[in-house]
Amino acid sequence: MRLADYTTLGLGGPPRGFVRAESEEDLIEAVWAADGGGEPILILGGGSNLVVADRGFDGTVIQVATKGIDWDPGERLLTVAAGEDWDTVVAWTIAEGLSGLECLSGIPGLAGATPIQNVGAYGQEVAETVTTVRTYDRVTGQISIIPNGRCGFGYRTSVFKRDDARRHVVLSVTFQLAVQPNSAPVRYAELAAALGVALGDQVASTTVRSAVIELRRGKGMVIDAADPDTRSVGSFFVNPVLDGAALAAVETAARARCGEGARVPRFDAGDGLVKVPAAWLIERAGFGRGYTLGNGARISSKHTLALVNSGSATTAGLIALARQVRDGVRDAFGVSLAPEPVLVGVTL
Ligand SMILES: Cc1cc2nc3c(=O)[nH]c(=O)nc-3n(C[C@H](O)[C@H](O)[C@H](O)COP(=O)(O)OP(=O)(O)OC[C@H]3O[C@@H](n4cnc5c(N)ncnc54)[C@H](O)[C@@H]3O)c2cc1C
Repeated sequence: MRLADYTTLGLGGPPRGFVRAESEEDLIEAVWAADGGGEPILILGGGSNLVVADRGFDGTVIQVATKGIDWDPGERLLTVAAGEDWDTVVAWTIAEGLSGLECLSGIPGLAGATPIQNVGAYGQEVAETVTTVRTYDRVTGQISIIPNGRCGFGYRTSVFKRDDARRHVVLSVTFQLAVQPNSAPVRYAELAAALGVALGDQVASTTVRSAVIELRRGKGMVIDAADPDTRSVGSFFVNPVLDGAALAAVETAARARCGEGARVPRFDAGDGLVKVPAAWLIERAGFGRGYTLGNGARISSKHTLALVNSGSATTAGLIALARQVRDGVRDAFGVSLAPEPVLVGVTL
């Protein structure tokens, strides 16, 4: 077997071992047995945020396939097993008249992975609704219930992602949702424009879901076997968060490169910091949509931030492209782009 068959990029060599865990007991047992034998493990969800080396994974891959959705109307708490398909969960909440996840429609992968990088899109992120994450703690061998405040959520990160030792295996995630047919206030300008509403307005969650999925499709951000631009991990780089001095340096470089009128787009990131779209930097550094090194890896034709396996790529080729883009942006603007996906057996 090859992990290419389990990743949305369609890349990755063979693992030494592979276990599919359909119950929580099986999942814990598989992790416990591997840890006891000193066997490295890779927890696999939907494989939509993984870049796996061509030589594969020198250890056991444990695929999470647990199921279960539980709604507690009294506390407004939704508890979802790690192996549930994320978009199915979002659709279920909207059908049940629950709001809080609607902008996260169309994101691939499984529910258990959503706290790992604090999944977010169109003005919402799971950090806003997660109350607790229930995990198997590989250090203590116990089940641990981690409240939101201890998840260390940040922009596309959490304690789970920062921990290189991967201490916690997520078993289930609990979200607190609002009981209402309308969405949370729309906070993303592009979404508000697509809906024809003002920022802060609330509209039917079903309408928000349709609009989000349509916007995502236009960018190749909804998995579609018929659309080769979706053979990716979504955004390959996170948008850099800059302080005033770094932003000033980018502005100077942008004027020198693109003319005096060049204005660097930015979004407030709190604490005097701004988030600058990585796609803008990549394009201005000379890497447009469709750019390729001719090795089967290319930039998506729909979204500059997505690196795509056009069918014949290798992981090495994709990483070579990512390096060239990262180095080009650093040379042009002095900004070091960081990868968003989890790299397994490869580095940038
Ligand atoms: C087309 C496309 C669009 C995307 N759009 C977005 C977007 O809008 N916003 C966004 O935030 N992300 C986006 N992503 C990235 C990705 O979908 C999310 O990060 C998703 O949550 C990953 O889920 P997964 O189940 O596929 O995780 P995987 O890729 O299988 O794993 C990712 C990491 O999480 C770990 N992991 C997975 N499950 C568990 C578990 N139960 N316990 C412990 N660790 C676990 C893995 O070991 C790995 O380190 C997109 C990806 C694609 C391909």
